This record gives sequence, structure tokens and C-alpha cells, in this order.
Amino acid sequence: MADLFVDLTAPNGRKYKQPVGLFINNEFVASKSGEKLTSINPTDESEITSVYAASPQDVDLAVAAARAAFKNPAWRDIHATDRGALMYKLASLIDEHAETLATIETWDNGKPYSVALEEDIAEVAGTIRYYAGWSDKVTGQTINNDPAKLAYTIREPVGVCGQIIPWNYPAAMFAWKVGPALACGNTVVIKAAEQTPLSILYLAQLVKEAGFPPGVVNVLNGYGKDAGAAIASHLDIDKIAFTGSTITARQIMKMASINLKNITLETGGKSPLLVFADADLEQAVKWSHAGIMSNQGQICTATSRVLVEESIYDKFVDAFKAQIKETSKVGDPFKDDTFQGPQVTKAQYERVLSYIESGKSEGAQLVAGGEPQKDVNGKGFFIAPTVFTGVKDSMKIYREEVFGPFVVIASFKTEEDAIDRANDTTYGLGSAVFTQDLTRAHRVARRIEAGMVWINSSNDSDFRIPFGGVKQSGIGRELGEEGLKAYSVCKSIHVNMGTKL
Ligand code: NAD
Repeated sequence: MADLFVDLTAPNGRKYKQPVGLFINNEFVASKSGEKLTSINPTDESEITSVYAASPQDVDLAVAAARAAFKNPAWRDIHATDRGALMYKLASLIDEHAETLATIETWDNGKPYSVALEEDIAEVAGTIRYYAGWSDKVTGQTINNDPAKLAYTIREPVGVCGQIIPWNYPAAMFAWKVGPALACGNTVVIKAAEQTPLSILYLAQLVKEAGFPPGVVNVLNGYGKDAGAAIASHLDIDKIAFTGSTITARQIMKMASINLKNITLETGGKSPLLVFADADLEQAVKWSHAGIMSNQGQICTATSRVLVEESIYDKFVDAFKAQIKETSKVGDPFKDDTFQGPQVTKAQYERVLSYIESGKSEGAQLVAGGEPQKDVNGKGFFIAPTVFTGVKDSMKIYREEVFGPFVVIASFKTEEDAIDRANDTTYGLGSAVFTQDLTRAHRVARRIEAGMVWINSSNDSDFRIPFGGVKQSGIGRELGEEGLKAYSVCKSIHVNMGTKL
């Protein structure tokens, strides 16, 4: 028991008890192998703590717990309104513990504390509360056809859901996955990314405190190739929901085919942001800057490819550089005036630096940033906000997702050219259009191949509105009413009202 919780003091002085076990059947337990993984503070590269890492054997135990909970009358037969009440209670507990959760998120991930508190953790509570409201509103239909027959549909939970989440929004991704799953009456086994294992364990203890029956929510840490693969290929898991890279999504799809699991995938992007000459330039600059530089550029919908109409191109680039100087203060994420913290890990930091080298060697022009930054002790995975111009369509930095504070700014000639260039990507997640011409805004929005279009804004996400991509950016939708579809199945019931054979 002793090593399942550790007393920690965060860099902002907050003291709290961090669970470090696997959360199975409402208890924190050690992993069968005893293996652990260590969470690193990306701001100063120090070790925060180690948590137990699940092996395939632990995944089996978590899945068995989730299956038993799915059959347990305490969950299976709970009144839908009472299921919602448990979720409302969880949302309130998240509000109560918001400052600790935000502290953990900033320490483990490197995102600015004010963002973690006011955006991420507020979104966690908001999403759980939103889906709590849906719990007793997931309904079927009656279908009038033959008078001698009554036909109706009911929506049932899918079963045991395996959920694999990334490190860029650890707590928010927990809510996006668990919220709709619970609203529909499923049980879950959710795995955090090995880079950010902490906030999800803290959330797990709130799940228990809220009163959910054992086994309804099981929370694991572990490596992708072990625990992640064991979830994706598990024969007793009915559904997989994944957020992360497109490469891993392909592997997951293959593994999930073993028992034809229902799947939803949210993957990467190289989202275009179009600025027409008639746009409000100041607003276009501010939104495009926020759209790529927020969250250290680690956003799947980041508007990382800015395309500007030729006649205002130079003006836009100058204004964008000025916006970086004015806004992008890089440094300690616990400081109030920090806009950008460190990249989440050394691997991600090195990945972004490698794209900077690639841009230079392919002949693009580096007009801002392009360098690592360190704290006073020479530590931390910081990268100066980076802008490349003079980019050719064939360059890696124009085509590939970098996932850092890194933007390419290119130009277009006409509306048709803008649309062609926006769609010239294997991805299709987010996109943005800046123009004051109302009809053009809607015309372009329809022709962009993407799951989401922002008109005169960027990365405007809301848990009431569906989120997801087309092409290689994913399958299915999360959030909003649409997000419920992935977590319930339709059963048709035919009642014979007297037809005799
Ligand atoms: P990843 O896709 O490998 O990891 C995401 C999750 O998948 C983690 O929980 C990981 O443990 C798990 N995973 C990894 N391999 C697995 C496997 N074989 N089977 C099952 N689960 C597995 O992402 P990464 O390596 O951490 O990051 C690499 C790149 O992915 C980033 O640079 C970025 O481009 C992209 N990414 C996208 C998002 C997003 O929100 N769409 C989030 C994180 C990373």
C-alpha cells in the first residue's frame, strides 16, 4: 500500500498526494511485473515521480473488471438519470480539485498554469457535466410501418471501451473519452500516454469518490507497445477510441480488426489557415498566432500552414513576427506572464529541432525563432516560436505535422488556388478562413476538405460541438451529440401484433 501514493510538492508550492498505482476495480494496485515509468518535468528535466506501468497481464485484469462491471446490475440497471447524477458529482469534484489538477498538468506537461486551470481543467469538468446531461436522453425511435407490427429501436451501450490518449491534453482527453462512454452506460479501460501519467490517476480517485461502482472506470499507465497494444488487440474489448499520431492509428486499426472492434480515431493534421486580402489583418494575425503557438504548438488542429493572398503577404509576415515579439513569452509555465512553456519531452523537442534543420537544409527562409532555449541552469525543452517563409510545396516542413511552435507561411493567388493549396494534404482535421466577404467565407468553408472550419477564428473548440477529421486525420466524431454515436449501438425490435402464419 505504502508505495501506491506519494506526497509531492509541486514547483508552485502546492502539496498533494499523488496516486501512482494502476486503478482497477476502484483500487490503486501495483503492476504484476512491478515495472514503473518515470514522469519528467519538461521545464527543468528533473524527475517528478514514478508510476506503475501496466503489462498485458494487468490489461487483462482491467478488462475483466470492466466486463464484470458492465454485467453488474449496480451499473447495468442503474436509472439513466442516476448515472447522470454520478457524472454531475464527478464534475463537481473536478471543480473542487481544479487547482491541484492544473498544477499536476503544468508540472507534468509544461503547459502554462493559467491555461491548465482556466481552459484544460475547466473543459474536463464542463465535458463531464455536458455528457451527464445526455445520460437520460439517449433514446431510440418507433417506426410506423405495418399496422400488424410494432417496430422500435433502442440504443444500448457498446460494452467495454478501450481508450488510448495522448500527452498534449492529458486530463481533457480523459473527459472527451470517458464522458460520452459513461453517458451511454459503457465501462472503460483508459490508458494515458507514458509521457504524462499523473493527472489521469488523480482523476481516477475522484471517480471513486463520486461513487461509481468498481470496474466502471479503470485507469492504466503504460507504454504504447505493451499496454496500448494489449488494449487495441484485446478480444474482450468491444470498442477502441484513440487520439494520437496517424502512424500509431494505422497500427491500432490493424490490431482492432482482430475482433472487428468499433473504432474512432483522432489523429494528426497540417491544418491550413487562409487569409484573403479583404480580411481584418490584425485579427487574422492574432488568431493565426494563437492557432499555432498555443499549447506549445502541440495541438492536433494547430493551424500550422498559413496561406496568405499574395497582395498582403509581406505585410502579414511582418505583423506575425511582431505578434510573436509581443505575445510569445517563453519560459517557466508556472509564471503568470508565460505564454509558452517547454515541449513535453526531450523526444518532442528534438523532433521539432530536426524539422528546423530540415527547413534550413531544404532552402526555406527562417524568419523567426529556429533555436532551442534553456532556463538559467541550461535546462528545459524550450523552443523559440519559429516561422519559415519561402517554402515550396514539396518540402517536408510544408507537408508533415511538426507538433511544435512552428509555422510555415506561404501565399496564394486566387480563391481557387487557395482552396487547391488548402486541400493539398493527406490530412483533413481543422482549417480556417479569414475574409470579410460573407459569401466567400461560406463558399470556401464548403470546399475545404476538413472536419472543422473556423471562419475568422482558429482552433475554436467547444465540447458541445462535434470534433474530428476526414482523410488521414481520423474516423468518427467526438464531442457534442454526435460524439454519443460512437458509444451506443442501435438494436431494432420487431413486435408481431397478431399476424398468424
Ligand atoms: P503516439 O501516437 O505514439 O502516442 C499516443 C498514444 O498511443 C499514447 O498513449 C501511446 O502510449 C499509445 N501508443 C503508442 N504506440 C502504440 C501501439 N503500438 N499500440 C497502442 N497504443 C500505442 O504519439 P507520440 O509518439 O507520443 O507522438 C508522436 C507524434 O504524434 C507527435 O509529434 C504528433 O505529431 C502526434 N500526436 C498527435 C496528437 C493528437 O492530438 N492528434 C497527440 C499526440 C501526438
